[in-house]
Amino acid sequence: MVAGKIENFPALAGEVDGSGLIQLMRDQLKGYNLRVVAADVKEANLRARPFSIVCSNGSAWETHSVIVATGAAARRLPLASEEKYWGKGISACAVCDGALPIFRNKPLAVIGGGDTAAESALHLTRFASKVYLIHRGDRLRASKIMQHRVQNTPGIEVLWDRTVAEFFGSELLEGLRLKSATTGDIRELEVCGAFEAIGHLPNTAFLSNQLGLDESGHIRCEPGTTATSVEGVFAAGDIVDKRYRQAVTASGGGCMAAMDAERWLMEKRLL
Ligand SMILES: Cc1cc2nc3c(=O)[nH]c(=O)nc-3n(C[C@H](O)[C@H](O)[C@H](O)COP(=O)(O)OP(=O)(O)OC[C@H]3O[C@@H](n4cnc5c(N)ncnc54)[C@H](O)[C@@H]3O)c2cc1C
Repeated sequence: MVAGKIENFPALAGEVDGSGLIQLMRDQLKGYNLRVVAADVKEANLRARPFSIVCSNGSAWETHSVIVATGAAARRLPLASEEKYWGKGISACAVCDGALPIFRNKPLAVIGGGDTAAESALHLTRFASKVYLIHRGDRLRASKIMQHRVQNTPGIEVLWDRTVAEFFGSELLEGLRLKSATTGDIRELEVCGAFEAIGHLPNTAFLSNQLGLDESGHIRCEPGTTATSVEGVFAAGDIVDKRYRQAVTASGGGCMAAMDAERWLMEKRLL
């Protein structure tokens, strides 16, 4: 929904952004006998058959098979000051928000040390007067090529061994208090924007641990299939995939899950 121009979806040469792609998908459904219900799933009971699904709008559904494709949300720093300045200078998406006028020609910070953090820092050099990359360790986890790019881009300074102790400002964010991981001393850094790039949290809370997950909380599937630990439940997209996380790979996974679900229903003579 928040993605800018999508350049890497087959047959779409960067003509649409994320919401445009969603609209195209919705338009494509019109010719099919498919009902779309806009609601949050609050609970799912996958222990009894048929499975049951309860939504926040009070509706409830029974079903023989389920495909889970609830994606993953960006992780956030658990600080009260982060909550206060969220959307007032703090964002989890440099690609979506980096070009906003409040960040233009201003010093900005990126928090993290992986590929997303490196990509965010490089992206922000287009708009910022300076980009600080704040990392809690003494080496980046990002791929070698991204590390090389970050360290050879003049507009980026990496602050090693630092964690964010607090965000400060008035109406809008004005800076960060950074704690040294080695000495514990606090240093203030004046920035107008802070972009968190500290990983993703798969949206599985409503499943109440009924499906097998991996160590990062993504749904575990049988290799090469979309089958989860519960027969008849399939999963696809960013909820499963921590490596590629792209619209086209999620769509491909959705196709696999639909085919797996259909085959399973036929095998069980439920379709
Ligand atoms: C800023 C940004 C830019 C990107 N740019 C690109 C790009 O250029 N090219 C590309 O290929 N990919 C891009 N991506 C990645 C791409 O958007 C994702 O990989 C893709 O959307 C994953 O699809 P998904 O269906 O698995 O999850 P999502 O698209 O996250 O969809 C999950 C859906 O499930 C819903 N949901 C969650 N929990 C519940 C619940 N309990 N009940 C009901 N619904 C629920 C969510 O609201 C959401 O609508 C970008 C992502 C971001 C954030």
